[in-house]
Amino acid sequence: MSEAVHYERVREHLEALKLHAALAELDPLLEATAKEERGAAWLLDQLLTRERDHRFERRVAANLKLSGIPSKKTLDQFDFDAQPSVPRHTLDELDTLRFLREGENVIILGPTGVGKTHIAVGLAMKAIEQGYRAYFLTLHDLINRSRVAREKNRLHVLHTTLLRSDLFVLDEVGFQALELPDATFLFEAINKRYAANKSTIVTSNKSYGQWHEIFPDPIIAVALLDRLLHHSTTINIRGDSYRLRHRQQAGLPTTRQEDTMT
Ligand code: ADP
Ligand code: MG
Repeated sequence: MSEAVHYERVREHLEALKLHAALAELDPLLEATAKEERGAAWLLDQLLTRERDHRFERRVAANLKLSGIPSKKTLDQFDFDAQPSVPRHTLDELDTLRFLREGENVIILGPTGVGKTHIAVGLAMKAIEQGYRAYFLTLHDLINRSRVAREKNRLHVLHTTLLRSDLFVLDEVGFQALELPDATFLFEAINKRYAANKSTIVTSNKSYGQWHEIFPDPIIAVALLDRLLHHSTTINIRGDSYRLRHRQQAGLPTTRQEDTMT
């Protein structure tokens, strides 16, 4: 068979195998192979590397879309000088994602507006960039979804979804008091992740001592905290709301809905 026939067959193979990135790079790489006097192994390496990189990027983009992350905040955007109660070395350590590989949890506590969600999302974005699957839900949304699922007799499906992600972010624990079935569901969800050695990040405006206020049964609160804290890092943020402070500095009123509601 002539080179031209082989070339056509390679194109067909790549097309049939849906190796689209490799197909797109085939001509320039063949040219480079000839020009730089490279061998067949180099060409194959280059071709397959392009395809793998492309697939990885596509997976990251899909995972980001599926994550439910409300607004894309990164840790690079976090101003540590504005929030001295957030220890930089702790965040640097979390940023390595060792906690994720080890299945450890992160609990971020503090009043409204101090950057809890920002940090949680930042860590989730980092995980997604590295190829992990992350899933973000507020407790409010989780409870609503569990109620719908319970009605349809599909709680097991929701549990599977929650267990599937490498990192689960549960935001805003503490804004609403839970009823018994909701609290039981939450405990089960966290317990399943704990048993599977999978990381969860929880943010809350309540200190641990106040958690019994949101649970209908203190035993559930204790059992939940027991699972969450077993292998965990706690970040306790003190201080003023970042947004409020910036509005104050700009001489704007500080009682807008959006500042008091989130
Ligand atoms: P919380 O979840 O604690 O209520 P958020 O994370 O939603 O607070 O923060 C409120 C807003 O302020 C967000 O837009 C967030 O990006 C921003 N923010 C808070 N703290 C900081 C910070 N230290 N540096 C940069 N932006 C911050
Ligand atoms: Mg928040």
